[in-house]
Amino acid sequence: MHILVTNDDGVNAPGLLALTQAMQPLGKVSVLAPDRNWSASGHVKTLHRPLRVTEARLADGYPALATDGAPSDCVALAVLGILTEPVDLVVSGINPGANVGHDMTYSGTVTAAMEGAICGLPSLAFSLDTGETGSTLYFYDTAAAIAAQVVAMVQKNGLPQNVLLNVNVPNLPMSEIKGSLVTRLGLRIYRDVLVSREDPRGKPYYWIGGDAPTGVPEEGTDIGALAGNFVSICPVQLDFTAHRSLEALRAWDWHIAR
Ligand code: MN
Repeated sequence: MHILVTNDDGVNAPGLLALTQAMQPLGKVSVLAPDRNWSASGHVKTLHRPLRVTEARLADGYPALATDGAPSDCVALAVLGILTEPVDLVVSGINPGANVGHDMTYSGTVTAAMEGAICGLPSLAFSLDTGETGSTLYFYDTAAAIAAQVVAMVQKNGLPQNVLLNVNVPNLPMSEIKGSLVTRLGLRIYRDVLVSREDPRGKPYYWIGGDAPTGVPEEGTDIGALAGNFVSICPVQLDFTAHRSLEALRAWDWHIAR
């Protein structure tokens, strides 16, 4: 089993190191990660500039590859042949900060796993719910130990085509984790505020600021699981079709002029 490890925080991120070490007992591990932080970059396919790949090393000396591409580019590069041995499974993370609800569409961590799913590979994204307290105490060891167990489950059971697992772990010591729940996506509440300022030359610029998002901790959702100190394991599908809206939309009086 050849496991590709990537992330959106960059090759030097502590979460990538923790995830890489956690995967080593489970197979042959290759690391290909961005050379800088791509958090909240969404799903990217770099088509209009060349991509560079350089050799790097993780803090423990483990060999890695770094690229100036996005997280999703890392998966594409690896699958398309940068790694000579075929990839069997993709893991992305461990991201500092939960990726729940609508975060899915912004998250570089999750979209790397989406790219893996598009490539037909079992893929998982791991994030640590570091919350909005600004705490610098990050329990990557908890998330890494959980990642190893979740990946082992996927190795045993497989995943359906075009389904990835989005895993979020409470930022707690392992002894305080209540267990795990298979969840659906919850409702994020963004608190973005437009900050408008002037540059030194008198020209306006804008910054999307505001407080960190919160969420509705509804039972059965990822946000609800984290609120109860449970690991959230959410199956995410790439079929974005709003199946429940198909019938209603088809009933509209469609007369598109030609
Ligand atoms: Mn990130």
